Amino acid sequence: MRNLLAIRYLDAAEITAILDSARQYRAAVRERKSTVVDSPLGVGLLFFEDSTRTRVSFEQAAAHLGHRTVNFSGSSSSMRKGETLRDTIQTLRYEGLDAVVVRHPAAGSCNLAAHEFGGPVINAGDGAHEHPTQALGDALTILDRKGTIEGLRVAIIGDVLHSRVARSNAWLLSKLGAEVWLCGPRTLMPTNASRLPGKVTNEMPEAVDGADVVMCLRLQRERMASGLVGSVGEYTRHYQVNRRTLRRCSPDAIVMHPGPMNRGVEIDDATADGPASVIADQVRNSVYVRMAALSWCFAEGGAA
Ligand code: ASP
Repeated sequence: MRNLLAIRYLDAAEITAILDSARQYRAAVRERKSTVVDSPLGVGLLFFEDSTRTRVSFEQAAAHLGHRTVNFSGSSSSMRKGETLRDTIQTLRYEGLDAVVVRHPAAGSCNLAAHEFGGPVINAGDGAHEHPTQALGDALTILDRKGTIEGLRVAIIGDVLHSRVARSNAWLLSKLGAEVWLCGPRTLMPTNASRLPGKVTNEMPEAVDGADVVMCLRLQRERMASGLVGSVGEYTRHYQVNRRTLRRCSPDAIVMHPGPMNRGVEIDDATADGPASVIADQVRNSVYVRMAALSWCFAEGGAA
C-alpha cells in the first residue's frame, strides 16, 4: 500500500503505470466487464471544501471497484466542534477504514493525514499545493488526443498562484517531456514561480504561440485576498482563452479546464463548447484515473 499525495513525488514510470491502468479500466467499464476486486475495502471521502466532480468521480471509481465509501464533509463532521484534523484522521483509523481520500483548504494537510492514518491516503486537492488525480485525468485526455506528451507545448493560463491544478499539471507534464508555460498576471503568479517546472511569462501571446494544449485555470475568488486583480474585466481582456487565443495556437490545439468554469471570465462560451474543447473528456477520464489511483494505492507490496 502507498499514498498518492503529489505528482512531484512520482517518477515518469509510476505516472505511466497509473495511466496504463486507467486505460485498462476504461476499456473494461466500456465493455461492461466486471472491475470489482476480490476483497472490497472501506474508503473514506473526507471533503473539507466544496466539490462536485472530484467527490462524485471518486465515488464512481470506488463503486466500479466494489469498494464501500463513507462520506464526511467538513460541515457535518466533529471538526465543526473544534476537533483537529489529526484527531479526526486517527478516529477514522480506529473505526477501521482502509483508505481515505482527503480534500482540505490547507496545503500539506494530506501529508499530515498520511502520517496519522494507517492506510493509503489520496490527496483530492490540498489548498494551493497539489491535486494529483486531476493532473492524471488531464494527462490521459491529452494522450487520447495527441498520442504523446513528450515534446508538446502546453500553456497553463490564469491564476497560477492559487492553483493546485497548475502545480500538479506542471510537474506531470514536464516529467513526461512537455514544454510547459505558466502564464498569468504578475499578481497571480507565485513569487517562486521559477521553481516550478516550466517557463514563466505574464504575456499571453508568448505562452500560447504555437501551443498544442491550452489549459485554463479558474479564477479562484474564494482564495483571493482582495486587490490581486484590478477588475474581472481587465483580467478577461488580457487572459481569457477565446477565439483570439486559439488563432495563435497550433491549428489542432486542444483547450482544457479543470472546472468549475467561470464562463465569460477565464474562458468564453464559444471556446468552452467549441470543437477544440476536451473538457467533457477530462471529466469522463477522471473516473478511470481514480480507479487506477485507488488500485495503485492498495497494491500489495507497492507494486503497480
Ligand atoms: N476543481 C479544481 C480544484 O479543486 C479546480 C478549481 O477548483 O479551480 O482544484
